[in-house]
Amino acid sequence: MSATDRAPHAPFAVTGARVFDGERVVEGVAVLVADGRVAGLVSPAEAHAPEVVDGRGGTLLPGLIDAHAHPTGDALALAIRFGVTTELDMFTVPERLGDQRERAAARDDLADLRSASTGATVLGGHPSQLIGLSFREQFPVVTGPADAARFVRERVAEGADFIKLLIDDGTATGHPSPTLTEETARIVVATAHEHGLLAVAHATGEQNALSAVRAGADGLMHVPMDRPPEEKAVAEIRDAGVFVVPTLVTMGSMAGDLTGQDVADDPRARPLIPADWHANLCRCWQFGGPGSLRNARDVTAALHRAGVPLLAGTDAADVGVLGTAHGVSLHQELRLLVECGLSPVAALAAATSVPADRFRLADRGRIAPGLQADLLLVDGDPTTDITRTLSVREVWRRGRRLGD
Ligand SMILES: [Zn+2]
Repeated sequence: MSATDRAPHAPFAVTGARVFDGERVVEGVAVLVADGRVAGLVSPAEAHAPEVVDGRGGTLLPGLIDAHAHPTGDALALAIRFGVTTELDMFTVPERLGDQRERAAARDDLADLRSASTGATVLGGHPSQLIGLSFREQFPVVTGPADAARFVRERVAEGADFIKLLIDDGTATGHPSPTLTEETARIVVATAHEHGLLAVAHATGEQNALSAVRAGADGLMHVPMDRPPEEKAVAEIRDAGVFVVPTLVTMGSMAGDLTGQDVADDPRARPLIPADWHANLCRCWQFGGPGSLRNARDVTAALHRAGVPLLAGTDAADVGVLGTAHGVSLHQELRLLVECGLSPVAALAAATSVPADRFRLADRGRIAPGLQADLLLVDGDPTTDITRTLSVREVWRRGRRLGD
């Protein structure tokens, strides 16, 4: 059957595997799949299906969600090889969004996506430095409070699933740049909320992150890295009820402190990574400024101790945006989250049920009856050893096995 054939596929059961259901480990169950959905978690004796997948020695997980990515070109095909079945696109341009969406809807051998479309920023503000690299030409911007609502309405009309705003004066990277004022940001957020959409913010420095929180943003799409954690700032983020997507792999790359070489050269990953992406993973930026991976990790750890919900995301974009690659970088991010104090189970939830809940993706992120059968089977037990997520045995999207 071809990957583009959307005819229903045969029901199957996965037996003998440990099951991580998105929140916790469930032992001694088989998972039944029919019509592209999870039909039930049953006792092994009840696992009657035309096809039985022997999961012994492995762990079955919900397909992973990368809560911060920028899929273009072949990104969604690369992501799904590593068990990432959904990417949340945090900045794109409309023509690219349409293309990625159509392909993801038609094919089960690509990850799915949700998108902010174009994020709200000012002329010359982040990510304008990527014009010529990730973007061919100037994208729409917000000129001030008077046209902030118009900007959001245009994104809603394009079919944005959530609204992204960018507050970055360049403090963390030592490159001063113009940015949204808190007043304009507040209008962007309020307009998103009027349309029933989340508003999530890019910020890489503490003051910018707090501006986003004060403007009412629902989530921070990076962890601030310009200074060590400050109790007051952590408390303000916690009290506002926002979630944080640390994107440690990208913060580390921006600071010049981290590449993806370890995962890139892992024998389980290397054969799946095209040469240009492999080279991209093995490099990093060198922006300068006070930003550091150490600060990013320490702030992430402090946020976790304070009870702030953390989501796994990579900020993987194009070849040329250094230090990341789609799919594989999420596995590196999960390890970094565990190093920041999350248990392996909490890290896995940060890539499954937590992003599903926060981004209102009610049809995925868990293994539960009625949910989409986006599944990942790995060798070993990533609920006790997070490095096992990279031991991918099988991936299914909407109940279809990758490679069939
Ligand atoms: Zn991004």
